[in-house]
Amino acid sequence: MRKDVLIIGGGATGAGIARDLALRGVDCLLLDMGDFCHGASGGNHGLLHSGGRYVVKDPGSAAECAVENTVLKRIAPFCIEDTGGLFVSLPEDDPLFADRFKDACRSTGVPTEEIGAEEATSSEPGLNPLAVRCFRVPDGSVDPFSLVQANICDAREAGALALNHCAVTGMTVEDGRIVRVDVQDRRGRLSSPIVPEVVVNASGAWVADVAGLAACTARAGLDQGSMLVTYGRQCRHVINRLREPSNGDIAVPSHTSTVLGTTSRPARSPDDSAVTREDVDFLLRETSALLPSLRGCRIVRAYGGVRPLLGGNGREASRSFSITRGDAVDNLVSVAGGKLTTYRLMAEKVSDTVCDMLGNSSGCRTHLEALGPPADVEGGSIALARLRRKYGRMASSISTSDTRVICSCEQVLRSEVTAVLKTGDALTLADVMRRTRAGMGYCQGLDCTLSVLELMMQGAKMDPLLALREFLREREHGISQASGDQLRQGLLREHVLNGVYGMGEME
Ligand SMILES: Cc1cc2nc3c(=O)[nH]c(=O)nc-3n(C[C@H](O)[C@H](O)[C@H](O)COP(=O)(O)OP(=O)(O)OC[C@H]3O[C@@H](n4cnc5c(N)ncnc54)[C@H](O)[C@@H]3O)c2cc1C
Repeated sequence: MRKDVLIIGGGATGAGIARDLALRGVDCLLLDMGDFCHGASGGNHGLLHSGGRYVVKDPGSAAECAVENTVLKRIAPFCIEDTGGLFVSLPEDDPLFADRFKDACRSTGVPTEEIGAEEATSSEPGLNPLAVRCFRVPDGSVDPFSLVQANICDAREAGALALNHCAVTGMTVEDGRIVRVDVQDRRGRLSSPIVPEVVVNASGAWVADVAGLAACTARAGLDQGSMLVTYGRQCRHVINRLREPSNGDIAVPSHTSTVLGTTSRPARSPDDSAVTREDVDFLLRETSALLPSLRGCRIVRAYGGVRPLLGGNGREASRSFSITRGDAVDNLVSVAGGKLTTYRLMAEKVSDTVCDMLGNSSGCRTHLEALGPPADVEGGSIALARLRRKYGRMASSISTSDTRVICSCEQVLRSEVTAVLKTGDALTLADVMRRTRAGMGYCQGLDCTLSVLELMMQGAKMDPLLALREFLREREHGISQASGDQLRQGLLREHVLNGVYGMGEME
């Protein structure tokens, strides 16, 4: 198969590049070895940064975030909750940091306003009443799954081909160029190797492995971070600790929960995202200093992700990004680093480089054209408004007349699952979950998994027990550190799945 551009990696960066290039009329193919968004783009904190977190130590990244925060709120409001953010210091924090923060916000263009502790606690009632200095910033909460799906949807509409569960396994180099790329397609859709003009390596934490297939080098430090999902929303704003970026200093309200994070430790591999009991205890202790109600809070799930970082380790490394041309071949472009918040900017810069290589003079349009409907679109029912917020443009393909609920925790309709299955992208239960949230709620899939599986089996040849086991194993990682009420919920789940359905006997 001949293509102008092969993009490897269907996280936010790769999906953004596919959209950008397709809008410039470039014939491109996007591949991901797993599902779209199964790497760091699906394993992050979901904070649409205002830039405030980086103003003091990483001003370049702060300025990038400040600009992109505004762009994304304009082009993709349906998947962003404009919660606003608060930076709050406590009595034990360095009193000089607040003034450094204020000055650095001014010089990096991050909008901020200092407010009194009384005003902060009245707008955020759960905030520690001992708060000393408080600043408002335009942080938000972003749903990375919807954002990535919207980019893929748009890229396809503009002519791109995007396939998940399709791994790049080898490259043939002749005369300093990649002339052939071998793939392994889990669903057998691609039968021949790819012959691309340009290869874009947007594989995040796997960037060095993919560059290595063409005997090139690409460097990124691998850094694991853990997060906790709470029962219910515990705050209205994104709450940040006003101190040098550190571990356990942010709470992000997200859908039916609040996400607490993060930690930072060197990762042994791109898949080394496991969360420990120590991470759970640490994150709860640190974040409850800001929001004391978190102390007795039920934790539904823990999850982790691996950051591909530029130079330096952990909190010392810049959150900016780099674009490099292959050192051993002419037609490879690798991108590493960056943030979910800056994915569009990264995609723009990569697409500029690729278009230069192809002699295409079209300019970037991704900052101008909406990715989905405006948040305040009028007309239709409450049900339709909810679907528009969740799915953007795809909402119009979901029936609102069928009101049967398939996942009661997250109020997912049966028709949402049916519409997702019709796209042909969802191969596994986790793929359906990433798109609909079925299985992400308090019971972690006990209530809905079998019904979703039944719908999946209507249209596809699959081994239901294998699919179920794969999904349950993945969910198990996140709840293995459960305690209290969530542990009791887990025991009920185990009783039903092992006792009633005999899942335990399958091992
Ligand atoms: C713990 C943590 C918290 C974070 N919090 C935030 C936050 O709150 N806000 C924010 O803005 N940013 C945050 N980030 C950063 C953000 O998640 C990442 O910068 C961003 O998601 C990276 O996207 P990506 O597309 O470059 O990489 P990824 O999403 O990892 O995508 C790379 C893709 O490449 C695919 N791939 C790899 N090898 C191959 C191959 N051989 N063939 C085909 N496909 C392949 C993988 O399957 C993967 O899906 C956080 C990151 C972490 C880890």
